[in-house]
Amino acid sequence: MPFSSPSSPPPLARSPWIWGLLALVVLALLGGIAWGLQVTYQARAQEHRHQIERELLAISQLQARSVGEWRERRLLDAMALSDDALFARAVADWLHAPSMARQTLVRERLRILEERARYSAVYLVDTAGRLLLAPDGPRPGHLPDPEQQALQQALQQAQAMLVEPRRDAIFAFPFLGVIAPLFDGIEPLGAVWLVTDVRTTLYPLLESWPTNSRTAESMLVQRSGDEVLYLSPLRHRNEPPLTARLSMAQTDNTAVQAVRGGRGILYGRDYRGENVLAVVSAVLDSPWFLVSEVDIAEAFTDVQAREWWSLGLPIGLVLLLGGFLTAFWQWNARRRERRLQRELERHLRWLDTAQKAAAVGYFAYDTESQEFIISPMVSQIYGLPADGRMGLDQWTALLHPQERAHILAVHGQAMAERSPLRMQYRILRASDQQVRWVQVWAEYEKPSQAEKGSAPRMTGTVQDITERKLTEEQLAGYRSALEAQVRTDPLTQVANRRALDEAVASEWSRAARSGSALSLLMVDVDHFKAYNDHYGHVAGDHCLRQVAQALSSAVGRAGEVVARYGGEEFAVLLPHTDLPAALAMAEHMRAAVSALALEHRAAGPGNRHVTVSIGVTCLHPQELMASGAFPEAAEAARALFYQADSALYNAKKAGRDTVMACPATWQPLEPAA
Ligand code: GH3
Ligand code: MG
Ligand code: MG
Repeated sequence: MPFSSPSSPPPLARSPWIWGLLALVVLALLGGIAWGLQVTYQARAQEHRHQIERELLAISQLQARSVGEWRERRLLDAMALSDDALFARAVADWLHAPSMARQTLVRERLRILEERARYSAVYLVDTAGRLLLAPDGPRPGHLPDPEQQALQQALQQAQAMLVEPRRDAIFAFPFLGVIAPLFDGIEPLGAVWLVTDVRTTLYPLLESWPTNSRTAESMLVQRSGDEVLYLSPLRHRNEPPLTARLSMAQTDNTAVQAVRGGRGILYGRDYRGENVLAVVSAVLDSPWFLVSEVDIAEAFTDVQAREWWSLGLPIGLVLLLGGFLTAFWQWNARRRERRLQRELERHLRWLDTAQKAAAVGYFAYDTESQEFIISPMVSQIYGLPADGRMGLDQWTALLHPQERAHILAVHGQAMAERSPLRMQYRILRASDQQVRWVQVWAEYEKPSQAEKGSAPRMTGTVQDITERKLTEEQLAGYRSALEAQVRTDPLTQVANRRALDEAVASEWSRAARSGSALSLLMVDVDHFKAYNDHYGHVAGDHCLRQVAQALSSAVGRAGEVVARYGGEEFAVLLPHTDLPAALAMAEHMRAAVSALALEHRAAGPGNRHVTVSIGVTCLHPQELMASGAFPEAAEAARALFYQADSALYNAKKAGRDTVMACPATWQPLEPAA
């Protein structure tokens, strides 16, 4: 495109700071999102931690309370037994006077205890710790040592004694024993040894866990010398309960921390060495501690990952969607751009074709470089090589010498006023020096905002209108010929009546302005009827042409008109002519016709040639104006013709072939009917 200016880059390319700003905004936005994410994540993690801790605390306290109650119930059972005076009486009776009936009575009470209160074993022992009776009958044997000691204390203090859970060969299960002392008044009788299987009564209290967790567990621990003893089974280790022990030196272990006095929420390691969150609760009235824990990995790390997913996934999805939308938008924009490009190319092709068909080219004039950038059609119109450029000097040289100064002046003025230029002028085509007509339409293009600072340009079109101009000229010639024909008498080729009327009207106006006299001659061929009768009409026509020719030859000044008034009558209009001059002219015309010496044998006696009679009149507008009777053009024309006709009549009467003037007085006439 020779038209596109090389100094007009796209507006955005000029302002890289816009891109910088955009990048900053995007960075700030991303930073903001990341910061928001981090803060939200931390808040949610904190909230989650508190929730987990609260949950664990609640579970631990609940379990500690139920364990405490379980332990208390053992003692209450024992105390109730110790306080049962009837039972003590029955035991005393049986001891003092053993009989099967008394034994059965005692055994029945023991059986009820065993079955109803779900003890694994119930024994009656004497004060020395010898086993006496079980629900199913007499039982040989002794109390194990711990129970033996407890028995002595119980008898001394008259109070039920609890022996901490342990394993012993006498039972196949871990058990807890309670010694309920029996007295007959103040006389010690012995005691009842209540044996509870902790697997079925205590451990289930710890195993029930309200939430679904992979790692959570509660365990009972107790100090045992320099070690911590696990009283309950461990979830993650297949060891029988009451066998696992841990050195007190492992201070990061939560069980060790528990027996060392730690309470509430603790962070440490469990027996496996895993990081755990633990809650320690002391079991009321006991050396037991309940440690409830859950792996940090489950409580936080898994949740962390879940949190990241739950926060990151929507944002990731949003970003993905954003990316997708951006890509789609870009794709769509590019598609639209391509479509517009194709449309533009098609329009340019149409434009090109249209311009070729109309011989229109376009140009842009750069005021700074004083150079035209021109389309191929402009090169062709000016006959220049199609290199797309034309210097100012080159263009000036192509202008037609007769018009050059005018063209340059008009161009200069349009440029100075920044006004549109519409002009038709001639050039000498460079290739063949032929004169061509061009039409130029141009306008000033203000530099756009983006091109601020660059020089203004003039752009426009150039069209070769030579053919149109020729046609116009031919048309003008034809029109003037037609007009002449309309005003010419076809027979004699002098002006006709219409032309005469127009001339009289315009000359009368002119005479009124200039104040000069206007004269009219009426010329009539004498005895022309007889001429026709004698020589025939063809000869008559010929005669009329010759008379007209003679009259025409007599006039020559500007504005003088010879017209055929009708038939064989002619009128001669003489502007700037007073009556004497008109009479002189009339005499000259009469003589000229006579001098033709056209034979006319029927002209009557004494005359053998064609002659004319002439009536003359003259009007002086100034005089009429002075008299206050100045007529309009139509009225003046009527008066002129009437007076000239009267004079002609007088000339005929005076014998023909003569000139007569009408009386030089103005007489207004009645308008013609
Ligand atoms: P006068 O001397 O009184 O004018 O007599 P005249 O015969 O010329 O006058 P008149 O008006 O009686 O006759 C005019 C004749 O002119 C009548 C007509 O035949 C003839 N004429 C009028 N127009 C034409 C024309 O165009 N061609 C020819 N050949 N004759 C014409
Ligand atoms: Mg006549
Ligand atoms: Mg006549």
